[in-house]
Amino acid sequence: MGFHLVDSVIKESIFSASDDRLQSWLEERGQPRFRVPQIRQWIVQRRVVDFEKMTDLPAGLRTELAEHWVPLASSIAKENVDADGTTKLLVRLADGEHVECVLIPEGERRTVCLSTQVGCGMGCVFCASGLKGVVRNLTSLEMMEQLVWLNLRQSATDRLNHVVVMGMGEPLANLDNLMVALEFATNDKGLGISARNITISTVGLPGRIRQLAMLGKPYHLAVSLHAPNNELRQQIVPTAEKIELKDILSAADHFRDKTGRQVTFEYVLLGGINDQAEHASQLVRLLAQRDAMINLIPYNPVSGLSYRTPMPGQSRDFAMTLRRAGYTVKIRKRKGSKINAACGQLRRVHQDVVSLTSPPSTGENR
Ligand code: SF4
Repeated sequence: MGFHLVDSVIKESIFSASDDRLQSWLEERGQPRFRVPQIRQWIVQRRVVDFEKMTDLPAGLRTELAEHWVPLASSIAKENVDADGTTKLLVRLADGEHVECVLIPEGERRTVCLSTQVGCGMGCVFCASGLKGVVRNLTSLEMMEQLVWLNLRQSATDRLNHVVVMGMGEPLANLDNLMVALEFATNDKGLGISARNITISTVGLPGRIRQLAMLGKPYHLAVSLHAPNNELRQQIVPTAEKIELKDILSAADHFRDKTGRQVTFEYVLLGGINDQAEHASQLVRLLAQRDAMINLIPYNPVSGLSYRTPMPGQSRDFAMTLRRAGYTVKIRKRKGSKINAACGQLRRVHQDVVSLTSPPSTGENR
């Protein structure tokens, strides 16, 4: 995973290499130990991936680094920037698979949205990421590199300060690797983002929610409901057929009790499907006065899928019913709608283009 083919030469990735590996390579060249953290600091904190620009390294070492290493194992296959500043990257992994990550600037906030899997096995019917199922879990390094790439897209004075794990994939299906990546996000030697500014979004795997609660991390949990009853939910999230809403809510309650953190419930509003007045009333009854925040997400259309965005008034009425029942409700703004910012869309467009141009041999909706 840590190797990269550059000009027909296979180069190792510095970011993926262990400290021991990098140190012994540097020792062979008579370099002191402190070069290891020095080089890592350039990439992670000082946001420089061009060895030539690492100006406090000896010139000869910079040349040798460029000959033997690449900074990161992944590369950027495509980059889209919307007028609102939302930046979406299509990241090409070392094995040729692609995932997406997004930088969302909003006032002082710099939020990154991470992917945890190639594809997704949850199969939400409205989502581009799940259309072809899950290919594999990402390694922790692959998730960390998404953070590094987005960090490189920042201006000199801005810092990443929020993470939402809402990109491609079901985060709790790849929990161990995700925890390592989030350690990097929060650690002082990593990006130093407050752990309280990290939100993990799940489609609702009760056992894994309990497992996350046991880890004792102050991460925020967002649970995607998308429907106020089991029957409708099975149409929208068919792979969750055997998971009942009451079990998801019980696990969310456990998380709330164990961590003291309020749970957010996410609900994608699909025009004419789950956005009617009766659905809002059912949702009020389902949540039964829980201490919860509700995020309503008007659907972001995906080409090739027939679902539609609700009428503006419909989202507002839905929110009003929930607010009258005492819930805090946000209607999430649609950021980056012109750049395929909904989860999985950029990868899908890329796959479509590749399949049109190559021989055959070869999520923000939540
Ligand atoms: S919305 Fe999320 S959980 Fe559902 S298929 Fe897409 S990536 Fe997977």
